[in-house]
Amino acid sequence: MTRQRFGNTVSFYVPLYLSNLCANACTYCGFSMENRLKRRTLDSGDIERECEAIKRMGFDSILLVTGEHENKVGMKYFREALPQIKRHFSYLAMEVQPLGTKEYAELKTLGLDAVMVYQETYHKPTYAEHHLRGKKTDFHYRLETPDRLAQAGVDKIGIGALIGLEDWRTDSFFVAAHLDYLERTYWQSRYSISFPRLRPCTGGLEPKSIMTDRQMVQLICAYRLFNPHVELSLSTRESPLFRDNVLPLGVTTMSAASKTQPGGYADDTPELEQFAISDERSATDVAEAVKKAGFEVVWKDWDSVYSG
Ligand code: SF4
Repeated sequence: MTRQRFGNTVSFYVPLYLSNLCANACTYCGFSMENRLKRRTLDSGDIERECEAIKRMGFDSILLVTGEHENKVGMKYFREALPQIKRHFSYLAMEVQPLGTKEYAELKTLGLDAVMVYQETYHKPTYAEHHLRGKKTDFHYRLETPDRLAQAGVDKIGIGALIGLEDWRTDSFFVAAHLDYLERTYWQSRYSISFPRLRPCTGGLEPKSIMTDRQMVQLICAYRLFNPHVELSLSTRESPLFRDNVLPLGVTTMSAASKTQPGGYADDTPELEQFAISDERSATDVAEAVKKAGFEVVWKDWDSVYSG
């Protein structure tokens, strides 16, 4: 079913961490405001260096990531950063704090193509246990973010749960239910699902529910059977062995050679990481593995030049 819809291809993207400032306290994240770590926000010179380093690796599709700090890394910052970054990449996705419909519509005019906004868990009491301070404590505002994105006409919306916070089957079911609702209501947008498993980070949280590799494969297949055209995305949180082996089983999109600290591509400063990655291969090495498995690597996403 995946081959019928997506062909023999795997799309590559890379995250660009713009800032690790955060005004929230999430129990599972290295950027939590309660963790003492060196904070850094890239200025336009840093951004240019990062973009050039990433371009040299071959990517044309980028995911901008920040902590959630509205004052210092909010609309003012995005208004300057987006056009600068869009000059380098044909597809621009963001994973930042939830914004309003008007703000998304404005960012769209500045080059925004996609937004990832993960609910983390759909179980309200568990959500409250893990989101202790800041705006992210508002469960419903986060839950309704994909609605605002679709209403703003954003091309692609990414949803998902952080596997391990709650019983993974229950949360994964609600991700599917959420997708179903969104597709029925806002059929003009495309959708993707991510299924990150909880990884060790500063302040290390033990998962409440462990998902084995076998169960992850079961979940990927279940999502595909449930929805033939949703994109399924696998990050470098997973090991090279696992990533290489699940390639033919429904995954359509992969990140590669990710650095989860601001400035990580132009200069390596591992002490600022959000979480430890597992697949540390270079983009070329991952691309080679993908080709060896019989797939074509696509370094870009949809080009908005075709949307007008
Ligand atoms: S998960 Fe996001 S909002 Fe929570 S502490 Fe980390 S960066 Fe901040």
